[in-house]
Amino acid sequence: MFRKYLTNSPRQTKKIGFVLAETLKKCSRKKALALGLEGDLGGGKTTFLQGFARGLGVKSRILSPTFIIIRRVNDFYHIDCYRLQGSKELLSLGFKKIVANPKNIVVIEWADRVRKIIPQDATWVKFEFVGRNKRRIVVKSKDGKEKTPHCF
Ligand code: ADP
Ligand code: MG
Repeated sequence: MFRKYLTNSPRQTKKIGFVLAETLKKCSRKKALALGLEGDLGGGKTTFLQGFARGLGVKSRILSPTFIIIRRVNDFYHIDCYRLQGSKELLSLGFKKIVANPKNIVVIEWADRVRKIIPQDATWVKFEFVGRNKRRIVVKSKDGKEKTPHCF
């Protein structure tokens, strides 16, 4: 089943990210753990990631988009596709190699912009604006076919 959440605060959104990271990091894998985030500006992607990174044990602060496309903290890669022209640009930055390494955890914001190069087994998280402090978060597999995301 898809996981659907309705959050009422940034704090709750961080908690959802935290718990998801704790679950996913325990899964065995042959390639990187990939997470694609989709949703409008202000939907809560970066907020969610702050909790997710903490759940992974990443100590440094997760920042909102800058002109940096790939930020790396050890094995954790935070990729922001907001300013990318398309998939080719991300491929030219070594994306294939990053997602091939099972040690890596790769989170891609604005993943819908580079959808075709996101690994098929990626977990997909969609953010919808509901109200001032309300967001809907849906967690599913990339193709939406699988009933549960990888290893849930
Ligand atoms: P995005 O990365 O998708 O553009 P951000 O996480 O940077 O979104 O911004 C979300 C904004 O919405 C923040 O200013 C945050 O404080 C606010 N906000 C209000 N309610 C929520 C909520 N329930 N979940 C996440 N963010 C929320
Ligand atoms: Mg963001």
